[in-house]
Amino acid sequence: MTEKHASVAGEVVLKPGKEKSLRRRHPWVYDTAVARVGGKPAPGATVAVRGADGSWLAWAAYSPQSTLRARCWSFVENDTIDRDWFAARVQAAVARRAHLAGASDALRLVFGEADQLPGLIADRYGRQLVVQFQAAGVEAQRDLLLDALVAASGCVNVYDRSDSTTRQREGLPATQGVARGAEPPELIRVREKVHEDALDFLVDVRRGHKTGFYIDQRDNRALAGALTRQLARELGRAPRVLNCFSYTGGFSLAALIGGAGVVLSIDSSADALELARSNCGNSGKNGGKDNGDSSVGARGAALEWQQADVFDALRELQRAEREFDLIVLDPPKFAASHHHVDRAARAYKDINMNALRLLAQGGALMTFSCSGAIDSDLFQKIVAGAVIDARVHVQMRRRLAAGEDHPLLMTHPEGEYLKGLLLVRV
Ligand code: SAH
Repeated sequence: MTEKHASVAGEVVLKPGKEKSLRRRHPWVYDTAVARVGGKPAPGATVAVRGADGSWLAWAAYSPQSTLRARCWSFVENDTIDRDWFAARVQAAVARRAHLAGASDALRLVFGEADQLPGLIADRYGRQLVVQFQAAGVEAQRDLLLDALVAASGCVNVYDRSDSTTRQREGLPATQGVARGAEPPELIRVREKVHEDALDFLVDVRRGHKTGFYIDQRDNRALAGALTRQLARELGRAPRVLNCFSYTGGFSLAALIGGAGVVLSIDSSADALELARSNCGNSGKNGGKDNGDSSVGARGAALEWQQADVFDALRELQRAEREFDLIVLDPPKFAASHHHVDRAARAYKDINMNALRLLAQGGALMTFSCSGAIDSDLFQKIVAGAVIDARVHVQMRRRLAAGEDHPLLMTHPEGEYLKGLLLVRV
């Protein structure tokens, strides 16, 4: 340990051959790759990762309880992993998103591994930051990371949503509450700009999924709006839209603003549907008639809300002989890990097949998977299987992904979780 790296608490020495992935700058060290741990590093402490021959490979955060035994901060030996280093990483991550500030005031500012801060999530909703410390390394650096986030973003209020199950695997307790500044308001209003339109959403940062909102779907919401508009021109009438797993109505509102005639939103959560209703129905700002009637949206569109299991509802809609011009399928993560891939594949196939059976000729299906364990090739194969079983002719128009504030580190393919396809029935 040199004086320069006084903050380094020990070393993790790998088994022979296990240095290869680190030489390719893959940021994770699995427990099975570790031969021995030198020193007595505390959870989250910075360690040197060395090959079996003792050669230096990376600076990393040690996590004794996790199968991800270490997550790399840096592959540059000259780096000193200290307050300045973390501040520079945060500053750089925030600066890389500066060009998106005009597009939305809901932005992901830090996305873990992709921003060289493994385990740290920081989302911005207007003037409010919401953070998640998902690994021992970032947890150990919590205070200085919060300082850096406040300095880089100019937001003084930070709410902590470190309540995700990923923390359990790191031996960290779930925690939630104000990290800096004041309590957030009950609901935060954010605005996404889509061409000439604006979508206003209410976000519940305390109780909502993730940090409150699916920021990652921003580009795809915009696409849903554009497709609705395009379909309206092609069909010569207002399109009928089905939004499955609607959560707080992100895609429903995009379709509504795009000129949908009918928007049916289905979710199993009554709370999510209630917020979706507010987002779509009650606001003149969103182009809806501000008449307190959440069943009537922009330009008199019929808004339908169904609290149901999508697997059942799709079958019920077939029995009722309903048909839709645009369908969005954005389910929760069906495969929590590689062990669940087979069951998840059957579930994805089922909903895609049943959605395709509801799709009108010329209609579009936007279908997603946010399971990291299912890569985009496998997802495409599963959906192709659904197309075959639905006995329809379908073109793939585009591959869909998370917005650019959720970048993918090219040496860390595990970071690619959200993938989707735009299909058109021909
Ligand atoms: N598309 C949404 C995000 C979906 S999150 C958006 O863009 O904001 C997944 C949603 O699916 C959650 O709201 C959850 O309540 C709902 N859900 C989970 N399982 C379900 C099921 N079997 N049937 C209906 N809804 C379900």
